[in-house]
Amino acid sequence: PSAFDHVSEAPPDALFGLMAKYRADEAPQKVDLGIGAYRDDDGKPWVLPVVRKAEQLLRDDPEANHEYLPIAGLAKLTSAAQKLVLGADSPAILEKRAATFQTISGTGALHLGSLFLAKFYQTPEQSRPVLISDPTWANHVQIFGNVGLKTDTYPYWNKATRGLNLDGMLGRLREAPEGSIVLLHACAHNPTGVDPTKDEWKQIAEVMKEKKLFPFFDTAYQGFASGDLAHDAWAIRYFVEQGFELVVAESFAKNFGLYGERAGCFHFVGAPAPNAAEITKKVASQLAILQRSEISNPPAYGAKIASLCLNDPTLFAEWEDNLRTMSGRIIEMRKALYDKLVELKTPGDWTHIINQIGMFSFTGLTPAQVDKMIGEHHIYLTKNGRISMAGLNTKNIQYVAEAIHKVVT
Ligand code: PLP
Repeated sequence: PSAFDHVSEAPPDALFGLMAKYRADEAPQKVDLGIGAYRDDDGKPWVLPVVRKAEQLLRDDPEANHEYLPIAGLAKLTSAAQKLVLGADSPAILEKRAATFQTISGTGALHLGSLFLAKFYQTPEQSRPVLISDPTWANHVQIFGNVGLKTDTYPYWNKATRGLNLDGMLGRLREAPEGSIVLLHACAHNPTGVDPTKDEWKQIAEVMKEKKLFPFFDTAYQGFASGDLAHDAWAIRYFVEQGFELVVAESFAKNFGLYGERAGCFHFVGAPAPNAAEITKKVASQLAILQRSEISNPPAYGAKIASLCLNDPTLFAEWEDNLRTMSGRIIEMRKALYDKLVELKTPGDWTHIINQIGMFSFTGLTPAQVDKMIGEHHIYLTKNGRISMAGLNTKNIQYVAEAIHKVVT
């Protein structure tokens, strides 16, 4: 008899299930608004031109090889990634209180961070929970749960305004047990597309400081959201400036289009204190042990590409240009969808479509309306009404707007 008789069948991943349904649909007019990856105006994956150049440089390099990277990853990448997130003149870097490990993209960074916190940020008296926005990226809860951290939620989405529920969020943070971990999306909140304004971030920081809460930033869309790298990292830099000790999970999947290459970094930033550099060094030594036992060393190919782009000024400028192309197209699609819904006189206020940012938009469509979008119009989106702006293009936008119009009227 099997020792696994008791194992029940888990439901398939909802998003990957939706993608399979889309692929199986033979209707020529089908549209995929579920995807979490950038598509060009022809609905095709886009290899960034700067990434193609970096790949060519790698191919032409006679010294290139497939050796293991160090446990902490490619040093040229981790140092550049630190500057990218924290800012080149960050006091945390100058004071040597930032430690960075290359990870298996953003998911791996979240995992390494959560493992570290499960091991080193729990008290014997009370386990410190992780507060996650409601709603959030579907994977957050299971990543933290897998390492035994308790998760709870804070309100985020205001259904009525289709914007941020700041009062609900702050209220919940005020009630949280001291020392709780708070997961924050640095920009382009997934799935809502709603980010706090600078003033709202300041209020969040104030409450978190007062309640001694620990920020865990997830940054998966730097530069991809607004097209401006510093703008999209503003919240993280502000929290560092405010003296928080914090961690950051960074993904290069979206902003480099390196989805499958699994490039990312985990950053630890120690609190400003006279012994901060010493603490950071000890933390890094423990992270090295965790990393060694989990993955030994991170994947090299995507890291080499990202590193070339981040360290060469010409390639860096071209990358910024590519980022503006992607974010610009997405912002244009928001505007186009909004204009079409207004033109069609679709009932309701659709300004949230243009106010939201990043790849995703929480449309406010109900589960029943989503079912109709899929069943009657072959337009695929997640049950919560989230659409990926990257799936829209000049060829399908009229069709999508008309379908939304039909399902809401
Ligand atoms: N965090 C958020 C909010 C995301 O949306 C994503 C990707 O969709 C990730 C993290 C991590 O993705 P990856 O592991 O592909 O870098």
